[in-house]
Amino acid sequence: MEGLQAETHALSPGEEEEEQYRALALDTLWSTLAAVLVYVLVKVSLDGVRRWRARVSVLIVGSGPVGLTAALVAVRSGKVLKLTVLDERYRSALLCRPQQIALDPRSVRFLLGLGVDFDNMEGCWHNEHFFTRIGVFQEYLLSILEQRKHNVDVKVQLGTKFCEEFVRRLPAADWPRVIVVADGSCGDSCSVLGLSSDYTVESCQAYGANATIERLDQRQVPTPEIRAHSLYFDLSAYGVDALREHRNPTTKPGFHLKIYGTFRNRYMALVCPSSDTKMVRFLRHTANASIMKNIFHQSFNAYKTDIEPRLSDVTLHQLQCSRRLFEVQLSHRRVSAAYIDQDHVAVIVEGEAARVLNFDTGCGINLGMRGLESLGTFIYHIATAVDQSDVMEALSAKMAHSRLVVQDFKLSGLAKSVYE
Ligand SMILES: Cc1cc2nc3c(=O)[nH]c(=O)nc-3n(C[C@H](O)[C@H](O)[C@H](O)COP(=O)(O)OP(=O)(O)OC[C@H]3O[C@@H](n4cnc5c(N)ncnc54)[C@H](O)[C@@H]3O)c2cc1C
Repeated sequence: MEGLQAETHALSPGEEEEEQYRALALDTLWSTLAAVLVYVLVKVSLDGVRRWRARVSVLIVGSGPVGLTAALVAVRSGKVLKLTVLDERYRSALLCRPQQIALDPRSVRFLLGLGVDFDNMEGCWHNEHFFTRIGVFQEYLLSILEQRKHNVDVKVQLGTKFCEEFVRRLPAADWPRVIVVADGSCGDSCSVLGLSSDYTVESCQAYGANATIERLDQRQVPTPEIRAHSLYFDLSAYGVDALREHRNPTTKPGFHLKIYGTFRNRYMALVCPSSDTKMVRFLRHTANASIMKNIFHQSFNAYKTDIEPRLSDVTLHQLQCSRRLFEVQLSHRRVSAAYIDQDHVAVIVEGEAARVLNFDTGCGINLGMRGLESLGTFIYHIATAVDQSDVMEALSAKMAHSRLVVQDFKLSGLAKSVYE
């Protein structure tokens, strides 16, 4: 009874006042928290809506395999309102290039992710690589872009050169937010946009030579490549006794040979890791062009498929090749991403316009595909950028990725495309 009296004991005026303050403070805390929560929720959802609705217009210069794949990445990003794709060549010239391309397993996965249906493209599979003609690939990508026209305003302008005149005539309202330059190794669109044309040239620690054989009577259908390893050449006829030294497998790497392309347009790549053996030294410095020709001639006849004709002394003129071994080098643009302040345009460079080898591996296209792996994210970041610092962040991430592509190639590019 005494305990109960103690619990119901009336509060003193001081205690009552303190209790009221406490209740008031609690109320204030709750309402502040509620206000902050509402603010955060509204901000997050408005930001979400802004990001969801954000769209940019994109211009792609060059409709080679890389430019058209970039166009596909752009329409699939969901962040592009208007896409313009240019090429200075008209359709027939664009699609008639004879060379074959070899898409490696990583590029195949990347393209599958973009909705490319290899079952609907003329080509063949070998060792998880897909071989097709460059024109077939481009035509397929053009047809997909055509189908996407209902989602995105896609305009493909073939026979239109990106040049000073084009830029001058472009109405201010039509300037895109993103320009992807994919105009190949000979394009000069970067200089039109004021981008530095400085390149960094890096050694791939290898020596190589290329050859082509054109035989107009042969078929032009996609054909798997052939690789041969640990090749040594007998140069005793030229007074060089280099075979014994080269045959020591612990220190003297042999040559790797690749035969690729269609039977009509055959290509060969011969390459070996850097070394200073007698054979390599001789083949690097010889002034006698017929030595390399003989090496390619013999190698082709030794490793070609059974169903294609041999090269005879009569048909040898169909073979053109490097005069001697040269150092394999990868050149890449110092500036592969930039911001044009006055027009508020982010420019990036892709494909052979960004990085190119002086040696044809028969897999060159894959280097271009690697660069495009970060394009979707880049477009997303530009579309949703709030201010210029977001744009700069997106550009520097793109540059960093471009440098990574180069480092990766230097580490394992030749191994994957020729040595293995
Ligand atoms: C002889 C040869 C054999 C090859 N064999 C193989 C192979 O077997 N396997 C393989 O994977 N790869 C091969 N390649 C490499 C492959 O062709 C390239 O990697 C690929 O074409 C590069 O693609 P790209 O889109 O970067 O450039 P490109 O294909 O050169 O395309 C650039 C496009 O930009 C256009 N352009 C240029 N300037 C402008 C401008 N100012 N305005 C508008 N358009 C412009 C050009 O017309 C062109 O269509 C070979 C290349 C050669 C030359």
